[in-house]
Amino acid sequence: MKVVIIGNNVAGTFTAQNLRNLNNDIEIEIYTQERYPYYTRVKLPELISDKVTIDDLIVFKEDWYKNKRLNLHLNKRVNALNPSNKILQIEGENDPVVYDKLVLALGSTPNIPSIKNAVEMKTENKGLFTLRSIDDALDIKDFIKNRNAKNAIVIGGGLLGLELANQINNTNLMTTVVEFFPRLLPRQLDEDCGGMLKQEIENRGIKVILNSVTEEILGNGTVSGIKLKNGKIINGDLVLIQAGIRPTIDLAKNAGLNTNRGIIVDEFLQTSEKDIFAVGDCIEYKDQIWGIIPACMEQSKIAAASLLGLKKVDYKGTIPKNTLKIVGLDLTSIGMINPDKEQTVGWEILRRADKKDCCYQKLVLKDNKLKGAILFGENKIMSYVYNKMEEDVDKDELKKLLDLRTYNCNKCGSEYDEAEMGILFKDLPPDWRCPNCKCTKKEFVGNSST
Ligand SMILES: Cc1cc2nc3c(=O)[nH]c(=O)nc-3n(C[C@H](O)[C@H](O)[C@H](O)COP(=O)(O)OP(=O)(O)OC[C@H]3O[C@@H](n4cnc5c(N)ncnc54)[C@H](O)[C@@H]3O)c2cc1C
Repeated sequence: MKVVIIGNNVAGTFTAQNLRNLNNDIEIEIYTQERYPYYTRVKLPELISDKVTIDDLIVFKEDWYKNKRLNLHLNKRVNALNPSNKILQIEGENDPVVYDKLVLALGSTPNIPSIKNAVEMKTENKGLFTLRSIDDALDIKDFIKNRNAKNAIVIGGGLLGLELANQINNTNLMTTVVEFFPRLLPRQLDEDCGGMLKQEIENRGIKVILNSVTEEILGNGTVSGIKLKNGKIINGDLVLIQAGIRPTIDLAKNAGLNTNRGIIVDEFLQTSEKDIFAVGDCIEYKDQIWGIIPACMEQSKIAAASLLGLKKVDYKGTIPKNTLKIVGLDLTSIGMINPDKEQTVGWEILRRADKKDCCYQKLVLKDNKLKGAILFGENKIMSYVYNKMEEDVDKDELKKLLDLRTYNCNKCGSEYDEAEMGILFKDLPPDWRCPNCKCTKKEFVGNSST
């Protein structure tokens, strides 16, 4: 049997490895339009700031493929697919490639919001960039050097936008982040933690502008800045857009496979064509797309088994797990972190918000099961959180772990429960009064949470 995989990043590579682990005899051919074997995209921002080299990013060198008898074809773009004849066409080549089973691991590309001049400025290499590949990082680096750029604008205050802004800032460019939402990391944080993060980012010399829609990329010949919807102009020698991803679906769509935002798959990662499977950033399962490495890894195991007819495990989705990779900033967000927006019944939240020390820990429970967490500035309970996700937890134990206390008023018995308040008792202002009997803080006695 001949299996062809299109795409050679996390999803394609690990599907190939899993297939080989399960079956020593099948022929496995991998096609990618990129010119490098599997490399990690995680450290691409550091390539721009010279903290890493291309070699540091390569995860599996060509020998690894040879040892596993995986035939890797670099610089080969697949431009058409014919599921009826089970063939695909490589750009610039006459002979089609035949397959028995096909895996689409096509990934995604950066989303470019509809901003006037954005597409033109990007395609004509005039100083507007997105970051997805090694070649993108090299282009950005060259542009900064050749144009002697002094200031940069990053559109998008999500994880990738902030990590990129941090490395651009490290190359001594004045850096401004512009975010559409009213807080940074809108999908990973709540308002309070978003505010704390903004402060930390600004302490590093990066300017943050929230709640702002970019209307136009400015510049004659090359980028000179951006214009916001409120009329404000921000000057910049280059603009970097990190505003989400778009799953790559055209190849599948043109071949008649079911697609929506992504390539539609079932719980066995099978597409609407029985011998074609899809994995990674390019898929949509139950209306969701993921765009994170843990999802690619999980899916690649299931896809490999399904393709070989071993449909034992079905895909249940992957819990979103994100860590901000900026040295000195510990921030992890996992699972459901803002349930109040979805529904209220059965959800409980325990928070320890230590604004003075810039630490924020939030645990989200539903019917006593741990559903999500934000850990900022303090990650000693990280392994507990990872191990207990979706498990039953004991609220008192959690309060103890977070060192949350309750304080009782000696006069009227009112309770101040730190787990439910946005501020620790010690951080309440000296003139704070008991909401019930109006006595001072001194009348309150603290109990540990045990
Ligand atoms: C800067 C950056 C930092 C990131 N950091 C993190 C992180 O810290 N944690 C995390 O979980 N995730 C992170 N991600 C996301 C993570 O890299 C992706 O989830 C992952 O790369 C997806 O893997 P994939 O194999 O599905 O797709 P991709 O990595 O997109 O790979 C798909 C490959 O297929 C090729 N291809 C597409 N169409 C064709 C075709 N027609 N013919 C031939 N080849 C084709 C593409 O060129 C590409 O090489 C980051 C991403 C970026 C860009």
